[in-house]
Amino acid sequence: MKADVVIVGGGHAGTEAAASAARMGAATVLITHRFDTIGVMSCNPAIGGLGKGHLVREIDALDGLMGRAADAAGIQFRMLNRRKGHAVRGPRAQSDRQLYRKAMQTAIRAQNNLTVVEAEAAGLEIEEDRFVAVLTADGKRIEAGAAVFTTGTFLRGVIHIGDERIPAGRVGDSPAVRLAEAFDALGFEMGRLKTGTPPRLDGRTIDWEGLERQPGDNRPVSFSFLTDEITTPQIDCHITRTTPETHKIIEANLSRSAMYGGHIGGQGPRYCPSIEDKIVKFGERDGHQIFLEPEGLNDDTVYPNGISTSLPEDVQRDFLKTIPGLENAAILQPGYAIEYDYIDPRALKPTLEAKRVAGLFLAGQINGTTGYEEAAAQGLVAGLNAASFVDGGEPILFDRATSYIGVMVDDLTHRGVAEPYRMFTSRAEYRLSLRADNADRRLTPEGMAIGCVGGEREAVFKAKKERFDRIIALAKRLSLTPAEAVRHGLRVNQDGVRRSAFDLLAFPDMDCARLGAVWPELNAFDAESIEQLEIEAKYAVYLERQAADIERMRREESVAIPNDFAYEQVAGLSNELKQKLSLQQPMTLRDASHIEGITPAALTLILAHVKQAGNERQRA
Ligand code: FAD
Repeated sequence: MKADVVIVGGGHAGTEAAASAARMGAATVLITHRFDTIGVMSCNPAIGGLGKGHLVREIDALDGLMGRAADAAGIQFRMLNRRKGHAVRGPRAQSDRQLYRKAMQTAIRAQNNLTVVEAEAAGLEIEEDRFVAVLTADGKRIEAGAAVFTTGTFLRGVIHIGDERIPAGRVGDSPAVRLAEAFDALGFEMGRLKTGTPPRLDGRTIDWEGLERQPGDNRPVSFSFLTDEITTPQIDCHITRTTPETHKIIEANLSRSAMYGGHIGGQGPRYCPSIEDKIVKFGERDGHQIFLEPEGLNDDTVYPNGISTSLPEDVQRDFLKTIPGLENAAILQPGYAIEYDYIDPRALKPTLEAKRVAGLFLAGQINGTTGYEEAAAQGLVAGLNAASFVDGGEPILFDRATSYIGVMVDDLTHRGVAEPYRMFTSRAEYRLSLRADNADRRLTPEGMAIGCVGGEREAVFKAKKERFDRIIALAKRLSLTPAEAVRHGLRVNQDGVRRSAFDLLAFPDMDCARLGAVWPELNAFDAESIEQLEIEAKYAVYLERQAADIERMRREESVAIPNDFAYEQVAGLSNELKQKLSLQQPMTLRDASHIEGITPAALTLILAHVKQAGNERQRA
């Protein structure tokens, strides 16, 4: 069998990689164990969140699948950080697992240029440092110009429940051992990571009476720029807490936990800790919150978000009895931890192509990340680039200054990972402009230029952009003097400066509804354009400052650091950073920025000292 691009693994990275390569016009084959596991959520039934929701919007802006599938499957939408600024708001939706799977499988079936082959990939053929073919366990040889491997937690995966060890890629699936050996043989640096999942409970055995109710937003905000309205019925979640009794049982059994009993060596996700982790690190507190999230509209399974564990099943049963509402809860599937191989992503170029093997791309959890959204975004990058590679095109690169995708790829390929990598808004130094609400304006034009955006999205985007441009131009044209403002009941400095509607919207508590009394034409626009105008106006001053920062950063990152630069004399740098920098001797500020643990503040200090040393040399 022959293809332009072959994708291995039909998880969150693989589906996005396959669909994006196919959208670029490449004849694409997706090899995965079973078609019916496409769209499976191995852990929590939810998409989005802080930073992660931004990634979903960016995937959607490039016509990817995740946003539309999450809209079809979403049963509780919440805009996180709603009370904070737009830059750090993150759309999140709890999903109906079956609906998500169905939406993803339908999208994959409907994709032109894409064939799915059910098989286990067991090896790969490389000739003269170039990828040639994937070999399957049942003897097929699929030749292609490029390949994207997205095998998730499957490489030498081992599940741990207490001291029980089961080789598996996730519950119910065999691990990929031969493939891991093939990557070993190619000389990739590999490491071990771990992650965990909570027990699944039977909702019919939970006592919901008296538990705190957590409703979703009244007006669900969709992920996809193409979704007009969420039509899937919405549900409530409930909240409960661990108790001192729970903590006692867990503490008494720590030695039986796979994570704490010394059965697992790999590093786990700091930001998604197990309940054992929380109790060891944060003690008893007044209890740890647990969100009881139904896994679907017609599914009694409940996901207790917050108690991921690798304790033996009998201990899981005992500690559940001490949690209000869960006293009689039946376990449908015990919680478990999984340990797996990952490949050091510093072996990859920013296109996610392996430096040592042309045409071989890696994406998703195999690169040391955790999370569906991180996986899907990498899948998109690798799929687009694999298609471009086969076509002899230019690399398709994402910049830190224009997308979270760019931030993640840059972090992974330059800094590597010491623990499972997940996205946060704090990772993006230019987050004021990398908002979830403007992902389409940031990326869809680029997507149209490279050819991965379909006709429907292009038409919707152009119409929206035209309305946006018109309302911004209008708001900048309409203006009044301070005296006129007072006459309309608007309080501004009486400094004689004429202010536009755009300027006035930057004032706290000012919005188009108030300005409508002066200029009714502003409110003739649709709600989305009005909201976009208000956000742009509020952020305008900061964005100008940020644009200047980006410009300065681009100039300064090429500043050379002398070979003999004395980091130990830079006051304010931590000892750890001084050691790392002295050891690694970065040649430029950009090289220094890629060292793990380096912060923008540390770079500013180094830059100031480099400049000072240069001035002193000139004077001498
Ligand atoms: P996956 O979604 O795992 O997909 C891999 C795909 O590759 C599967 O379809 C598999 O069948 C296929 N495949 C593998 N090997 C082969 C082969 N040799 N041949 C053919 N097909 C193959 N994320 C969080 O954000 N928070 C969490 O708390 C969290 N906990 C987790 C707990 C567990 C137990 C697991 C398993 C995962 C957890 N995750 C969590 C991670 C999340 O599930 C993954 O990050 C995400 O699914 C990774 O996507 P992926 O596409 O890289 O891999």
